[in-house]
Amino acid sequence: MNKKEDVGRILKVAGPLVIADGMGTSRMYDVVKVSDKRLVGEVIELEGQRASIQVYEDTGGIGPGEPVYPTHEPLSVELGPGIIEGIYDGIQRPLSDIASETGAFIARGVEISALPRDRKWVFEPQVKKGDKVSAGDILGTVAETILIEHRIMVPPGLAGEIAEIKKGSFTVEDTVAVLKTEDGKKVEITMMQRWPVRKPRPYSSKYAPVEILSTGQRVIDTFFPLGKGGTACVPGPFGSGKTVIQHQLAKWADAEIVVYVGCGERGNEMTDVLIEFPELRDPKSGEPLMKRTVLIANTSNMPVAAREASVYTGITIAEYFRDMGYSVALMADSTSRWAEAMREISGRLEEMPGEEGYPAYLGARIAEFYERAGLVECLGSDERKGALSVIGAVSPPGGDLSDPVVQATLRVVKVFWSLEATLAYARHFPAISWLRSYSLYADSVAESVRLTLGTKFLEDSKEAMRLLQEEDELKEIVRLIGLDALSPKDRLIMEAARSIREDFLHQNAFHEIDTYASPDKQAKMLSAVLKYYRESRKALDSGANLEDLIDLDVKEKIARTRYIPEKERDSIPKIEDQITSEVSSFKKEVS
Ligand code: ADP
Repeated sequence: MNKKEDVGRILKVAGPLVIADGMGTSRMYDVVKVSDKRLVGEVIELEGQRASIQVYEDTGGIGPGEPVYPTHEPLSVELGPGIIEGIYDGIQRPLSDIASETGAFIARGVEISALPRDRKWVFEPQVKKGDKVSAGDILGTVAETILIEHRIMVPPGLAGEIAEIKKGSFTVEDTVAVLKTEDGKKVEITMMQRWPVRKPRPYSSKYAPVEILSTGQRVIDTFFPLGKGGTACVPGPFGSGKTVIQHQLAKWADAEIVVYVGCGERGNEMTDVLIEFPELRDPKSGEPLMKRTVLIANTSNMPVAAREASVYTGITIAEYFRDMGYSVALMADSTSRWAEAMREISGRLEEMPGEEGYPAYLGARIAEFYERAGLVECLGSDERKGALSVIGAVSPPGGDLSDPVVQATLRVVKVFWSLEATLAYARHFPAISWLRSYSLYADSVAESVRLTLGTKFLEDSKEAMRLLQEEDELKEIVRLIGLDALSPKDRLIMEAARSIREDFLHQNAFHEIDTYASPDKQAKMLSAVLKYYRESRKALDSGANLEDLIDLDVKEKIARTRYIPEKERDSIPKIEDQITSEVSSFKKEVS
């Protein structure tokens, strides 16, 4: 309970913003409880005794004169066993139980612990009495789900000697270890940590991504790869496939942990995620995907301000698993909703608006968020590495890429997957433009790709992109003067590019086999497509007819390689032999 003098008074309520007086004991970003309904709010501006408070719950019916109770703590998340499979709202209140009964609705002012307090976890110690440990060292492990081992670490800022270590079943509040610090103090350690969401969690050092985060999506892995620990942005108009891409990444990216932050466009959209996600299966293990997933969803009854908190809640949870040494992928869908929340709050604070009414600090906030991604050496003495990759969807109005949120995001992320309405209308999925997208990791991950797939794949991928670019230029000529104006060589380029687009880049997320292609299968498929081009090109030079080459029987087989199951992928190179023999039958002897 707060002392009488430590209670503020509401002066004004403006939607999600509450202005209160008598708040001198609070600091910026402290959590406060607003009115006797104890709505959760956060101090976002402080001038003397007067605080502006962003409230994460509906402020209807709250008015001037009502009390505001400081907590003197920043907005924090609980980190420990029980978090995986969690479905939370923007301020980490569990939705799972509530969602099934009432459709993702939480009564106002409800205080529920993020981690279950009564559940016991089997703690397996990894250190013994007398061991010297420091922040980040792993004290023991908990088999949290069938897929994830939860590593209990010494919290940041602590170091010392193990005075006591336990083994057995414990709740997250039970002491599992006692640490004797250098100044002789004894510190009890539980399996739960709290961490303020706006503060990045510490690590030893950060590196540039060197390894590809393979996604099984051909256009991404082959042309616009994401590095483990990298950042990507997927802007696209409504209906262009942002959500499908995010789901595909959640399922297939070779990350061990997935954190999905959903800021729904419309009220019921998040409910869709809440229903769909728990039904997804992890393709590698056959277990529910939730066994390695944490879901943050903004419910329809929470005001926009909660979206603001949800991206921070999500990334803090993701950093925590990165600290254990995992490769984590965080997806935020869509960051435009987060930016709109910033705009609304900024407007109510009467700040000077920047572009399109967004606050001037929009770019800085977006940059700070993506900077929390990275490949890091974790705290702790075992030199483990963890990676946090962040993929943000942006939904600019009308798909307009000059939108301030898109622009601010593109300034910081290194990968841009541009979804295009024209491709989606033509049912070319994923509707990622091969001409406009880019990846700045292509060079830094090339070595890791070369080690697994060989130099040929890198060369093939460059040549395929060159053909697509040439097709684009040729299309212009065709549009002006017709296909007949092209030389046979140019028409062959058009044909090869068509094959790259339709037989390789097009990928149906809903087809059992086509939905995922391993890096090796991608390399083999691309090699077959290019073999056709290279052989035909040689045949043209030796006088073959273009029409004959376009009508080869083997082309049907090239078009169907995507439906070849992974375990039969070694049959793809045989198609190349058939290409050679069919093409050679059309070669004319040059005398
Ligand atoms: P957005 O989130 O951008 O509004 P969605 O992700 O919901 O768009 O995609 C819209 C529709 O496009 C989907 O319902 C689906 O029919 C189709 N689609 C998108 N991506 C693919 C894909 N990779 N394979 C097949 N169909 C897709």
